[in-house]
Amino acid sequence: MFIPTRAAGLDALDDFVPRAGGAYARDRNHDLGPSRSNVSGLSPYLRHRLLTEQEVVAAVLEDHTPGAAEKFVQEVFWRTYWKGWLEQNEEVWRRYRLEVRDLLAGELPDGYEAAVAGRTGIDAMDAWVRELVDTGYLHNHTRMWFASIWVFTLGLPWQLGADFFYRHLLDGDAASNTLSWRWVAGLQTKGKTYLATASNISRFTDGRFSPGGLADTARALDEEPLPPRTPLEPDDVVGSVGDRAGLLLHEEDLEARSLLAERPGLLGEVAATAVHGDPGQRSPDGASSVVEAFTSGALADAAERTRDASGRAAQTLADAEPGCVVGWALSEELDTVVVPYAPVGPVHERLAQLRPALGAEGISLVTVRRRWDAVAWPHASRGFFPFREKIPGLVRQL
Ligand SMILES: Cc1cc2nc3c(=O)[nH]c(=O)nc-3n(C[C@H](O)[C@H](O)[C@H](O)COP(=O)(O)OP(=O)(O)OC[C@H]3O[C@@H](n4cnc5c(N)ncnc54)[C@H](O)[C@@H]3O)c2cc1C
Repeated sequence: MFIPTRAAGLDALDDFVPRAGGAYARDRNHDLGPSRSNVSGLSPYLRHRLLTEQEVVAAVLEDHTPGAAEKFVQEVFWRTYWKGWLEQNEEVWRRYRLEVRDLLAGELPDGYEAAVAGRTGIDAMDAWVRELVDTGYLHNHTRMWFASIWVFTLGLPWQLGADFFYRHLLDGDAASNTLSWRWVAGLQTKGKTYLATASNISRFTDGRFSPGGLADTARALDEEPLPPRTPLEPDDVVGSVGDRAGLLLHEEDLEARSLLAERPGLLGEVAATAVHGDPGQRSPDGASSVVEAFTSGALADAAERTRDASGRAAQTLADAEPGCVVGWALSEELDTVVVPYAPVGPVHERLAQLRPALGAEGISLVTVRRRWDAVAWPHASRGFFPFREKIPGLVRQL
């Protein structure tokens, strides 16, 4: 269903643009089954930045007025908002990682294995598990129902539900996924939960599902208070570029051309290019084969599109371990490895290990943050509604 190339993403964008206005605002909440045209299906492309948020919003606004496209543009900015929020509240990610690790290592809660095998006896849940596992995608409304039933009807830990999604979603994203699950459970907007009801599910699935026996109340979960938020890194480029720099792409950002176009002269000549990734780092239980295949396809596509100064295609590194990157950098005689900034999540953790490993060989790691993130993230310090007010100004600026 999803072809992991930038060209396929651009085709999907072209195809969707005419429907991104009033039709999207009216129909987007309906989930009428896997072949859907009321939403864009662009998330696997945006997640890896095979397409950028900037070009998706620009293409839509070429065809529609800002008023007509308001809803769609806001949805794209939800992704940006979640990422900017997590960036300033990394403790939420740290706790999530530890809690998933401990939950999976301990005795699994009753009902967990039946839930992830699609054997709850709730027909909708079991069908959604199959769809998620087979295709790597679920509609947004369905994700909300699923998370709500998981937490409030099945009484399972939200962290294990988030982990199950993260392992299977092609668009699996540390910020959007973790924070959406927290939002459903009443942790993200303190005390405000999302309760799935049979009538809402029936209405928006056109009667395909109307599950009985769902919880009729949703009491918000509780947690230890979070520490104060941490300030964002003020600089877009962190580190200094030496005389012989190589560019290393990773699964958070696979579009080098537009990234480098924002920083003319930063690299001088690109001496060498490489791509690396490891979706297995999403969870102690790894990632599904569907996610593995999509990610390696996306990396191969990026490798083919990304050339160094002499026209060589990027090398796809055998693994994402620091030693492998260091070996590549040494073999290319680099003094600098430049990477797109990786927001809070597994790749961020990986780069934190890579920096000292490169440093030990006298090679510096330089991160480059996109203008989109730099301009929008500072507004993501509170709730979405104050952020939403800023969207028209952000769109003009970006
Ligand atoms: C429990 C739960 C888990 C989720 N996990 C993820 C995840 O891991 N990765 C992910 O990208 N999205 C996640 N979402 C958000 C949303 O469901 C998907 O982005 C959306 O369904 C993708 O389909 P689409 O591209 O057809 O969306 P469209 O409706 O066409 O929206 C266009 C783009 O806007 C962004 N977007 C839309 N809705 C949201 C939203 N609510 N939050 C953040 N971004 C949004 C996506 O990048 C999407 O591609 C989650 C939502 C819930 C409720």
